[in-house]
Amino acid sequence: MRHWFGSFRIRLTVLFGGLSLLAGLGIALYVAQAATVRMSAAVGDALLGIGRTTANALAETLMEREREIVLISKRPLFVHADFGDAELRRSLEQAKHTYRHYAWMGIADADGMVRVEADGLLEGEKVAQRPWFQGGREGAFIGDVHDAVLLAKKIRAPNPDEPLRFVDFAAPIHGADGRLRGVVAAHAHWSWAGEVLRSSLATAGEGVEAFVVNAAGEIIYPYEHVGRLALPAALPDSGGYARVDWDDGEPFLTARAAMNSTTDLGWQVVVRQPVAKALAPVSELHRTLLVLGGAVAVAFMFLAYRLAAAFSRPVEALAGAAQRVEQGDEETPFDVRSDIREVRMLADSLRGMTARLLGRRRELQEINATLERKVEARTAELAAANRALEKLARSDALTGLANRLAANERLHGEFLRMQRTGVRYAVLLMDVDHFKRVNDTYGHEVGDRVLRHVAGIAADSARATDFVARFGGEEFFAILPDTDLAGALVVAEKIRAAVADAAAPVVGQVTLSVGVAQATPDDASEDDAVNLADRHLYRAKAEGRNRVAAADRLPDAVLAS
Ligand code: GH3
Ligand code: MG
Ligand code: MG
Repeated sequence: MRHWFGSFRIRLTVLFGGLSLLAGLGIALYVAQAATVRMSAAVGDALLGIGRTTANALAETLMEREREIVLISKRPLFVHADFGDAELRRSLEQAKHTYRHYAWMGIADADGMVRVEADGLLEGEKVAQRPWFQGGREGAFIGDVHDAVLLAKKIRAPNPDEPLRFVDFAAPIHGADGRLRGVVAAHAHWSWAGEVLRSSLATAGEGVEAFVVNAAGEIIYPYEHVGRLALPAALPDSGGYARVDWDDGEPFLTARAAMNSTTDLGWQVVVRQPVAKALAPVSELHRTLLVLGGAVAVAFMFLAYRLAAAFSRPVEALAGAAQRVEQGDEETPFDVRSDIREVRMLADSLRGMTARLLGRRRELQEINATLERKVEARTAELAAANRALEKLARSDALTGLANRLAANERLHGEFLRMQRTGVRYAVLLMDVDHFKRVNDTYGHEVGDRVLRHVAGIAADSARATDFVARFGGEEFFAILPDTDLAGALVVAEKIRAAVADAAAPVVGQVTLSVGVAQATPDDASEDDAVNLADRHLYRAKAEGRNRVAAADRLPDAVLAS
């Protein structure tokens, strides 16, 4: 079966294409893998850098605010003046306006009642249970992010999409005597964290997000994720990065940076970027490599096809020439032009082989023809020899007449013809009289000469259509076709008279007796007439020899003459 893959061209093309495609795929995979590792490291480092920058910026702001509140608590006016002093209030207002994220600044006395504040929103309120008051009594205090409680209805949130949330700073005010006079505190809008994050992320890559996480591992910024997005359990160690699956879908490259500060808030910054986006350049590179690999494979396949064609075309031409030779066009030339040495060698070999085979075939044909001629000649010789043999087998060696075999065949033939046509024939049986005496008197040789003499006369005396044979010894036989008994008697008499009248060699005169019979269609076999003739011959001998005898009913005159 001829299969499409059986062709050398197709095989080489597929092999080259497959190999180059495999090589291209391998290279593309390897490069993409290496690039993924490098790119992940670079992006991870960048994310970690963003995390650290953000954490440092947050920590610095917190410490700055803490330092500020401690400095305010130590102002002489705050140490000495009465809390109702107008100068003290102005000083407090001034301090509040130095930092635009301060939402509130005020002083509670040692019993936890707000005595003085910048905007006069909470004066007279009891804040003894507030964490900032309790912490601020003991020393510098920074409170974790919390929702506004007392101020919620009195201040508008800077960002309408987020509720009012604060980070508290507080410090104790001690009098000159060292006794606690009260606690000075500031509530800073937590939205400043957004400012820090935005500036950190300003130059970050696409899809990069940063989260501020508190000590409990909860997101505290940005607000839209608060309480909604849980941090993955398998976060990298602080100061590291990893590929992490988040609850909100895809995998992210995630970095974690702890906030190094003197505060013990335990905040951290987690920065993430979707892996797809982080490694987009790698995917792009991968695609490019695949397209390039495919193009190279196609180019290789094309080259392989051309190369294979350069080899297989002359081979196919040679095969075609060989086929034409096989079909009988022996003059087909094997002239194939090719740069490939092996192809030229093949063409030379085919040419030589064909010439030799054709030469050998011609030789064989000549030998065959010679043989056939010889066989024909031999056959002709054999046929001639057979004919000669046949003639020999049917002729009598002594007299040259037909012999008994030939006589029997001829007799049979005449009998059949008579039965078919009704035309009768007659037979003569002739016997030399007293021949024994000739032999006895003159010797056997003279006897032979006499026999030849009698045979010659009998043959000459019969008609051309008559058949004369030597039956054996000194006995002769004749068949006279289309002859009735009268005609036969005439012939018999003619032979008898000719023998009697001619002088035989040495001996002088010899005579013979003749028995005549007519064959009829009623005869049972050809022997009937011969037997009848034999009986008449016997009668002729008995009646004195040198005479012709036939059927009794014939007139004696005929028999006697
Ligand atoms: P008849 O008149 O009764 O026929 O007497 P015959 O002597 O001819 O009698 P017979 O037929 O008995 O003898 C025939 C002889 O012919 C006997 C034999 O020696 C001789 N003879 C037979 N064939 C040949 C032959 O081929 N050559 C010679 N020389 N003699 C032959
Ligand atoms: Mg005899
Ligand atoms: Mg005789």
